Amino acid sequence: MKTAVYPGSFDPVTNGHLDIIHRGAQVCERLIVAVLHNSQKNPLFTVEERKDFIRQETKDLANVEVDSFDGLLAHYVNQVKADAIIRGLRAISDFEYELKFASMMRELAPDVETLFMMTKNEYSFLSSGIVKEVAQHNGDIHRLVSPRVYKAIMKKYGY
Ligand code: ADP
Repeated sequence: MKTAVYPGSFDPVTNGHLDIIHRGAQVCERLIVAVLHNSQKNPLFTVEERKDFIRQETKDLANVEVDSFDGLLAHYVNQVKADAIIRGLRAISDFEYELKFASMMRELAPDVETLFMMTKNEYSFLSSGIVKEVAQHNGDIHRLVSPRVYKAIMKKYGY
């Protein structure tokens, strides 16, 4: 597989995302991690900040690029001529959403395959949302994100 896109909000990137990026980079020649603009009304980090975190954490992976997109993922994947989309799967709740998402992608970009990677057991509960919720109340999230992201989140919440 030549080019794959791993899309998401990444607000901010967690160790669960980074695990998918590492494994995704092994199954394609070029992996574009694509940060979605406007996915939430009130993101904690700007798109530039989110891209910077991912860039820093993946700088050892030569075939990983970081980009952002607005609007439909189907248009973006066609624009960058991607062969596949990579998505991570945690629980049954992800499956329902991802099935709809993949089916719609097949309608809109039939030549682009959606590939799912199962989460590592230790990250099966992990989402950017839960990290923010715990950090907001000064809970310990240092094992769930990189040291750089950890510092930035705690600073945002005033700790
Ligand atoms: P979230 O806000 O849920 O952390 P994103 O929208 O940024 O996630 O997620 C982008 C992609 O990464 C989605 O396919 C999502 O299922 C996947 N993902 C998020 N967290 C994990 C994890 N801990 N393990 C595996 N995949 C994950």
